[in-house]
Amino acid sequence: MDNTPATESALALALVILIPAAGAIGYAPEAVPAEPAAAPARPYPDGYPDGRPAGPILTKITEHLWVYAGPINVGILRDGQRALLIDCGDGAVAGRLGELGVTAIDQILFTHHHRDQACGAYDLAAAGAKIGVPGDAYAAIKDFPSERVFFEKPAGCFDRRWVNWSYHPDYLLLTEPLKVDSAYTGGQAFTWGAAKIRALPTPGHTNGSMSYEVSVDGRRVIFSGDCIYDEGQIWELYGMTKAGSPFDGKFLFGGNWAFEYEGLMWGRKELLESLARIKDAKPEILVPSHGRIMNASAKAIDSLVARFEQCFEKYLATSCLRDMFPDFANYVDYTRKDFLPMFGKVTKLSNGKMYCEAPLADTRRKPAPPCLLHIGPTSWLLKSKDGAAFVVDCGKGMEKDLRKLMEQGEIARVEGLWISHYHDDHVDGVEEFRKLFPACPILADGHVAEVITSTSAWPPLPCLMSQSVPVDRVTKDGESWQWHEFKLTAYFFPGQTLYHGGLCAEAGELRIFFSGDSFNAGGLEDYCPYNRNWLGQGAGYDLCLELIEKLKPTHLLWAHDSRPFLFTPADLQLMRANLAEREKLFAELLPWDNPNYGLDGWWVMCRPYAQQAKPGGELAFDVVITNHSAVVRTAACRAICKAMSLCGRPEPEKMGSFWPRMRVFMPSMEEIPV
Ligand SMILES: [Zn+2]
Ligand SMILES: [Zn+2]
Repeated sequence: MDNTPATESALALALVILIPAAGAIGYAPEAVPAEPAAAPARPYPDGYPDGRPAGPILTKITEHLWVYAGPINVGILRDGQRALLIDCGDGAVAGRLGELGVTAIDQILFTHHHRDQACGAYDLAAAGAKIGVPGDAYAAIKDFPSERVFFEKPAGCFDRRWVNWSYHPDYLLLTEPLKVDSAYTGGQAFTWGAAKIRALPTPGHTNGSMSYEVSVDGRRVIFSGDCIYDEGQIWELYGMTKAGSPFDGKFLFGGNWAFEYEGLMWGRKELLESLARIKDAKPEILVPSHGRIMNASAKAIDSLVARFEQCFEKYLATSCLRDMFPDFANYVDYTRKDFLPMFGKVTKLSNGKMYCEAPLADTRRKPAPPCLLHIGPTSWLLKSKDGAAFVVDCGKGMEKDLRKLMEQGEIARVEGLWISHYHDDHVDGVEEFRKLFPACPILADGHVAEVITSTSAWPPLPCLMSQSVPVDRVTKDGESWQWHEFKLTAYFFPGQTLYHGGLCAEAGELRIFFSGDSFNAGGLEDYCPYNRNWLGQGAGYDLCLELIEKLKPTHLLWAHDSRPFLFTPADLQLMRANLAEREKLFAELLPWDNPNYGLDGWWVMCRPYAQQAKPGGELAFDVVITNHSAVVRTAACRAICKAMSLCGRPEPEKMGSFWPRMRVFMPSMEEIPV
């Protein structure tokens, strides 16, 4: 696999957007990994991400059923001169319908609400196409909006930018409402032309995804959205970051199971049930939104289920969630040798459940030396012999603890604040801290400083605070300095998030490592793909673990716990081996040439995400693409800015009528080497 760290390149796109007379804050459109739209439009003009050659643009399935391969596969059911489409992608399919004798689109059925499925629908709907969408609400969560809401009222869903813990709907939301003519629920069937169509609920990729079984000309074909990409493969995994439980689907808000923030692959239950539903329907042909048309669908699904389960287990094997949510003990086989040990003694009961004794995570924990003190929600304080204090992280209220310590004579003064990462609970006390200690310098690694000093430039990264905070000194990876009796060394430490640093404090026998939120005594905190946890040797957690192996700290510190802990060399080895195996397994599960494309929720982003412009002014955005491949790749970007829903917080009703459409000036087909 690729050993070179991924590179991030900003395309100098001069994506200039004219601001209408009213002026407003503009939100950058999320960049869809767009394929070049030069005719002939094909999803992968140079072949699929896994190296297979590109397919034809129009594929005949039966006399009445065709598939158009644009940025996504679009189903075309025809009846004389009219057509029913399944998804429509960027709408370019309309330009090819004449070849099939079609002059009008009667209806479009959508598998789900994502922009890559539906961004071309507005013009087609204006020309008379009726819009049909999935109507089922997510079964496990009452009151969760159905997929229909994301078509009809997307604007309200954009208002979740700051301190985001919820990823549904996700960032491929439409930018303006689309009028819905009919909503289909699971099992609903109807006839159109020569075909019988049945709606099959297939949540997983999105909460309310629907597949459509089309029986026509004696054949049965299922259009399955993004449930499956190809035999044994799925398009991406970050979209399946779900709340509830990956096992039984129970949603216990505030109970044992977590927010979506902790839910990497927790759409597992829904996905597996959806795949079983498709398999039970025994289609002869399976047409995915992204990917290749499949014949042997049972084999394709079985292989996907097997690989998904392998990847999920491999991820669970080192996950700190097993320590944070005790319910995992009911579902995970803790006798397995390839799992990071969690308990001193585990007995498998006759009912298959685990009886776990002596939490091993506790035995990893050790008391803090006198120079260390845990204060506030997330802060550690390092005390020098002469009473000076150096603080790591600054959650709300931490300054009160500092004040108390000074009053009690525990510390004489505060000489520095180092921020481990950008998450709100590590920086939301900075404002108060600054008031109390105006002369105290604030330090952070460059990756962290880039985010926290200018938060509005960033897309909705998880737990991003709206308020920026100052950084007085940016530390470089490996930079050391003496602070009283301690030698401090700062590191780039891309564990829990890519925008994360680590700090080592050495004095005498002590070697203390402040790991921020990257580890707890239960394992790795890699549960939120929007935090950007990259796989690969020398990247992400592998880089962090390699550093810990090298430094051999005497105390590892987690920001949220007052008990230092330590991994054994065997623990570290197991975790690194797990990551290497994971990279291989996820590479098989995901169709890209590097699995990080399917795991990194932000490999394409627009920056700045929000900016001010005067009426009549211009806005320019960078499209920042992370090249996870081992080779130079070519990317193409096309701005699809439909409306001024990109402005402030407009009410949904006003968006279509009040705001004029944007005009975007940029070469629409230009390919820019990355
Ligand atoms: Zn999708
Ligand atoms: Zn954090």
